Amino acid sequence: MARPSNITSRAHSIKRSDRESRNGHKGAVLWLTGLSGAGKSTLAFAMEERLFALGCQVYTLDGDNLRWGLNQDLGFSHGDRTENIRRAGEVAALLARAGLIAIAAFISPYQTDRQNARRAAGGCFHEIYVRASLDVCESRDPKGLYKKARQGQISDFTGISSPYEPPESPELVVDTANSNVAACIASIEAYASEQLIFPKSG
Ligand code: ADP
Repeated sequence: MARPSNITSRAHSIKRSDRESRNGHKGAVLWLTGLSGAGKSTLAFAMEERLFALGCQVYTLDGDNLRWGLNQDLGFSHGDRTENIRRAGEVAALLARAGLIAIAAFISPYQTDRQNARRAAGGCFHEIYVRASLDVCESRDPKGLYKKARQGQISDFTGISSPYEPPESPELVVDTANSNVAACIASIEAYASEQLIFPKSG
């Protein structure tokens, strides 16, 4: 998309490092990608609770939730999915610049779209692959969507009639087929503690 002309961006006088030292952690994007039913929303909201309890400023952007508002004009064609992720990536990057840990839970099936979201976040993007095979996700089918997709009632459904490109080098992989929710949360929490949360002084 072309950059607008006659627009000059203005710098904030409050530095990002000031916001981060007040919060006690870095501003960051934890980007969860994976098939429908892999466990993105479950882990994102559990992680939000956990980080909040630890005193972090944290907010979850969930794919389904954003489609109720900001992205309600978008469907599931390749172009609409790209725009969905572009907007989500920009919002997540804004939250991170404001000093929050933004947890983003989006199927985000295309590598290029995730790379663009990474670029928007400018160095504070952490890709977490929420991995479970199509068979596992389909057997869970928490929203009954796979059944509908198999019956032809939903088109462009990821894994059935639309592709999913797995991450090539994610910062973290959680294997939800072989680890329970608590173990996956512990793994993400360990990563966040090491990468994002400042050690308490004194
Ligand atoms: P997504 O957001 O990826 O579409 P959901 O979080 O809505 O997936 O659904 C995932 C389903 O898988 C839930 O019913 C959840 O209880 C179940 N599940 C089983 N094991 C795990 C795990 N280790 N992590 C996350 N979810 C799991």
